[in-house]
Amino acid sequence: MTVRVRIAPSPTGNLHIGTARTAVFNWLFAHRYGGTFILRVEDTDTERSKPEYTQNILDGMQWLGLNWDEGPLFQSQRLDLYRQSIQALLDNGSAYRCYTTPAELDELRAAQEANHQAPRYDNRHRHLTLEQEAAFIAEGRRPVIRFKIEDDREISWIDLVRDTVTWKGIDLGGDMVISRAADEHELGQPLYNLAVVVDDIDMKITHVIRGEDHIANTAKQILLYEGLGVKVPEFAHTPLILSAEGKKLSKRDGVTSIDDFKKMGYVAPALVNYMTLLGWSSPDAEELFTLDVAAQQFDFDRVNKAGGKFDWDKLNWINSQYIHAMTAEQLLPELIPYWQAAGFKFDPVTDRSWLLQLTSLIGASLARLDECVEISRTFFTDTVTLNEEATAKVTQPGAKEVLTSLATAIKAKPELVESEVQELIKQVTKEQNVKKGLVMQSLRAALTGEVHGPDLIQSVLLLHQHQLAVPRLDRILG
Ligand code: GLU
Repeated sequence: MTVRVRIAPSPTGNLHIGTARTAVFNWLFAHRYGGTFILRVEDTDTERSKPEYTQNILDGMQWLGLNWDEGPLFQSQRLDLYRQSIQALLDNGSAYRCYTTPAELDELRAAQEANHQAPRYDNRHRHLTLEQEAAFIAEGRRPVIRFKIEDDREISWIDLVRDTVTWKGIDLGGDMVISRAADEHELGQPLYNLAVVVDDIDMKITHVIRGEDHIANTAKQILLYEGLGVKVPEFAHTPLILSAEGKKLSKRDGVTSIDDFKKMGYVAPALVNYMTLLGWSSPDAEELFTLDVAAQQFDFDRVNKAGGKFDWDKLNWINSQYIHAMTAEQLLPELIPYWQAAGFKFDPVTDRSWLLQLTSLIGASLARLDECVEISRTFFTDTVTLNEEATAKVTQPGAKEVLTSLATAIKAKPELVESEVQELIKQVTKEQNVKKGLVMQSLRAALTGEVHGPDLIQSVLLLHQHQLAVPRLDRILG
């Protein structure tokens, strides 16, 4: 059997972390078995679907490296296909036109509520005579098309994640609407469950891998497969992503779209790595891997049933590992947009070697790309304001003399190299008869305005190359 799987996002919002994680599992399963990964855009909800969301989803999938083999296919362009199946279901007696009005349905729901019953359609138009239908049409009622669901049916499947899942027909809400706004000739607007099943059949999907929130749909969809007389695919319902508090991750938790993660400075391979771990673990307990490596080991027996709690610390740690493994050449283009957005003045072309040096200096301190702004601000701004601790360092006894000597020596050398700065610090320490710590601390405080920061020697070199070191020392020395 050739594995064929799909991700089927609805473009009613930006690419969500939950959808992206489902896409990761589909991608891994397809690659594990040399199968095909298909992208289908479920845009039948014309009111809520928007082209900009479709674009956001496609861009996000590409950014994450979740390349698809077929598609994108759009449900909105396949209405005829769905209508053929609706007609087939009408012809074989498993579907019928229902003329119940919205007011009658409201009445039914109110009565059920009053009796503390779950809302469900009571299948009242299942067996209309031709005369009854004609009378309803004459009244101007517009039918929907419903698919029969027998109350006494039990629907069972062996889920690749959850083992045996069983649903009772009586819990599925009565005969389901598969098409809206039909009339006695037209087949109307096909609805979600019908379109999914028809597409999955048409695309020869072998494994439906999707979020656990679709389990109730699966029971209904299995009945549709039966009604259409085709083989039911395998199903794998993946656990939900939960907030740190164990609740379903929602918009209220802030960051939920892949775009947000990107803006926050997560790098794509780290994010897919982390998403893979949200519900799956590798047999060798490895936590850092590429999609290709995970694909060699991926299977559903290692996918958890329980929801995966979102762990920011772990994501940050994984992200830092990926950033630290990047060369300055790889990292620089990732940082430039953050520096530009912060309004820092530089020329990516003529300043390239200085920027690469800066990238090497700060790279190992970054857990997220956006942190590059604060950590490197001092290298881009003309003047610095000393914080309280730094002020204490430059005003401590002996600091003024030390800084004066350093300033004189640095002024004399328009071009400095690392060994010269090291030598200079040693020399001033000796000459002023102070501790080396005092020299280092007062130099850092005077140049950067802070007492902590990246490697001091490299910082001196970078600042001096951009003519920032001497003026800063002069300013302190007044
Ligand atoms: N369109 C559905 C969603 O975005 C997915 C349906 C499916 O995978 O079967 O949740």
